Amino acid sequence: MTANPAELGARAAVLDAADPLAVYTAHFVPGDDLVAYLDGNSLGRPVASVPAALDAFVRTQWAGRLIRGWDELWLTRPAELGDRVGAACLGAASGQTIVADSTSVLIFKLLRAAIAARPDRDELVMLSDEFPTDRFILERLADDHGLTVRWVDAPLDAGITPELAAASVGPRTIAALFSGVAYRSSWWADMPAVTATVQAAGALMIWDCSHAVGSVPLELDAWGVDYAVGCSYKYLNGGPGAPAWAYVAARHHDTLRNPIPGWLGAAAPFSMTEGYSPAQGVASLVSGTPPILNMVALEQMVQLIESAGITAIREKSIALTTYAIELVEVLIPAATVSTPRDSARRGSHLTLDHPNSAIAVERLWAQGVIPDFRHPSGVRIGLSPLSTSFAEVERGIRALSEALG
Ligand SMILES: *Cc1c(COP(=O)(O)O)cnc(C)c1O
Repeated sequence: MTANPAELGARAAVLDAADPLAVYTAHFVPGDDLVAYLDGNSLGRPVASVPAALDAFVRTQWAGRLIRGWDELWLTRPAELGDRVGAACLGAASGQTIVADSTSVLIFKLLRAAIAARPDRDELVMLSDEFPTDRFILERLADDHGLTVRWVDAPLDAGITPELAAASVGPRTIAALFSGVAYRSSWWADMPAVTATVQAAGALMIWDCSHAVGSVPLELDAWGVDYAVGCSYKYLNGGPGAPAWAYVAARHHDTLRNPIPGWLGAAAPFSMTEGYSPAQGVASLVSGTPPILNMVALEQMVQLIESAGITAIREKSIALTTYAIELVEVLIPAATVSTPRDSARRGSHLTLDHPNSAIAVERLWAQGVIPDFRHPSGVRIGLSPLSTSFAEVERGIRALSEALG
């Protein structure tokens, strides 16, 4: 049964009143002209405690401790913060997650490490419509090392499945790199089943969790994942340029080969020894000086996620995207929703296609209604569970329907 627009609009207040996480929407810095933020999957909003945390960091740690800060506080921070991301979002026991570098650089490091770990194999596997940076890095590595890329085609409104994975891996596969939640369709892969399929071929499973982390519960340890990587400025609200995280399962630590063996990932950084010997565990994935200042905002969001809990966050995400899809169907019947209707297979954003998308999004940005335009005709609506209210979703999608005309 399809609701009428008035009933559907009125439902926002009911949903907000019943939302156990509603209190968290006040924990973010309000934007001056913000009417509806529908792009939390591209750049999360700043947590309200960030300005004070940055100020305290500058005064107390940076100015207060100066160079002593490295020994006292900062050298261990990438691993400490990695552990907290691992526990709150990844289902990862401590010692396997590190915060360092950009997502792109970490993808390069993990893929290069996988190539080194499977010297007798010569194929890499990826979806043909994977996020550009992932494709570019994989292609360059394949080119430099004389490897073959097996591109997998998935339907536009879906992503990787165990069946598609089974058809593309084999005795020559080094590794498959797939997105846990697809950046375009929002397809949440059956990650444990895909992992098992890839590993049954003797290949390594690498998950890009950029659109998954902080919005869907991940269980990397329980699923037996080999490597994973993800962004910190999307649902982890770390801010523009926040360093990404990488996960390497403990069983790979002894053989992990960092292709950029820098001094701060070495066993004894300050001994200035001649030869490189790696630090214990995932810490060897660090190359040069980690971006400590850029971890301050991320830490504030990790604290919020720890307090709300990823299970409750996931429940709200499902409620938000379900409501958003219903609004789109009623208010924008000319749009095609290319996102799974099955909430169990859906992340926290949706994509719809409409011929007027480009001009509509440009107009909406000027009005403080902020979805994301995706070439050629897509609008992405990202619903960050802790910062987004149902009323905001309703305001945003109503404005979108008016702008699309
Ligand atoms: C956002 C995103 C990236 C971003 O990479 P950066 O190095 O942080 O710019 C990479 N891959 C996927 C799948 C993403 O969603």
